Amino acid sequence: MVITTAPSSRTQWVRYDGRMAKPTIGVLALQGDFAEHIEMLRQLGVPAVEVRLPSQLALIDALIIPGGESTTITRLLDIYELREPIRRLGQQGLPIWGTCAGAIVLAKEATDLDRPNLALMDISVRRNAFGRQVDSFEEDLRVAGIDGPPFHAVFIRAPAIEHAGAAVHVLATLEDGTIVAAQEGSLLATSFHPELTGDSRFHALLVELAETYHRERSVSPK
Ligand code: GLN
Repeated sequence: MVITTAPSSRTQWVRYDGRMAKPTIGVLALQGDFAEHIEMLRQLGVPAVEVRLPSQLALIDALIIPGGESTTITRLLDIYELREPIRRLGQQGLPIWGTCAGAIVLAKEATDLDRPNLALMDISVRRNAFGRQVDSFEEDLRVAGIDGPPFHAVFIRAPAIEHAGAAVHVLATLEDGTIVAAQEGSLLATSFHPELTGDSRFHALLVELAETYHRERSVSPK
């Protein structure tokens, strides 16, 4: 995989040279800003599909759960009968990345949800943690494992990761120590929205996880 930086902007992308396995990334498209994730993946040259049906899960090597409204997404997960199949695949190692509301859907514990979420990742999140007066803010973050300039992070009525289990690797915090990005094996959670800033380094990270999953799946099909 070759990651290049465009000279005139901070946009980064991944080019495939044809010899590498191309993973397919699914984006849960029930509600929220799934179109922006699809667009970012297309810019990276990675096959991306909208996921709305359980049968589509068989086609993908990673899943993004976008930002939006976590109460709506969890309700639709049940209506579309996606909660259990996604949970099972996550337990079997499918890379899953939740951004903002998606992180809430992925967490083992979340405040103020009126129905079950996926409860996959060993983090506790507080919804709307940053208060009404600062519903949205932006911050440049240092992210573990992501080289180059700081990551410009956009927070929109964002959750805070209040607790991370022993197996969870903290990737980024705010200055006061609040965790805003974390990884546990092939599960990723960000409180912010990398799909809105034109910086595809987080997407490239997910693509790497998807490549590994894709390779292992081709060796021993599930
Ligand atoms: N506040 C929303 C929630 O609790 C998340 C906002 C977002 O995804 N930008 O679901």
